[in-house]
Amino acid sequence: MKEATTEILFPKAVIERRVEELATQISLDYAGKELLVVGVLNGAFVFMADLIRALDVPCTVDFVRMASFGAGSVSSGEVSIRKDLETPVAGRDLLVVEDIVDTGLTLSRLVEILRERCPASLKVCAFLDKWERRRVPFVADYVGFSIPDAFVVGYGLDYNEQFRFLPDVRVLKDIV
Ligand code: 5GP
Repeated sequence: MKEATTEILFPKAVIERRVEELATQISLDYAGKELLVVGVLNGAFVFMADLIRALDVPCTVDFVRMASFGAGSVSSGEVSIRKDLETPVAGRDLLVVEDIVDTGLTLSRLVEILRERCPASLKVCAFLDKWERRRVPFVADYVGFSIPDAFVVGYGLDYNEQFRFLPDVRVLKDIV
């Protein structure tokens, strides 16, 4: 692994507190219901694991993986499903869990696709929100933290598949 400078943005304890708060809110909103929690791979798996264990409502889980197309780091805005759900969603209460909303392209497309399958309801919970970078209007129903335009890693978020294991969220400064 290359050397990298990172700076802690959200320490583990702060993340734990916020996840508890989100879970309390979600549990209140879905009292008496059973959720189908849809994790967006790979980044959401750590957040989702903590979130579902803090919920007071029963849930089942499934996962999708999205693919976006474009040259180099510039996204064309074309997003599709690379790995689909294995659970039928018609009539279910869906909570999509994502690591971070950036341009909004991934989640707006995923929500569009899932709505066509007629769930009873569909909401989105994003751990982080980089609202300054939106290319399409997208508002998540639940947000852990809004953050400025910086590249972050840890708590499931990667840089070239590295750093997902970090228990805190860090800003990636530079790679040597
Ligand atoms: P969007 O379609 O909203 O632009 O992109 C969302 C995806 O971009 C996220 O699921 C994540 O994989 C990636 N992404 C956007 N910003 C960051 C960031 O700061 N750090 C990491 N690790 N991934 C990011």
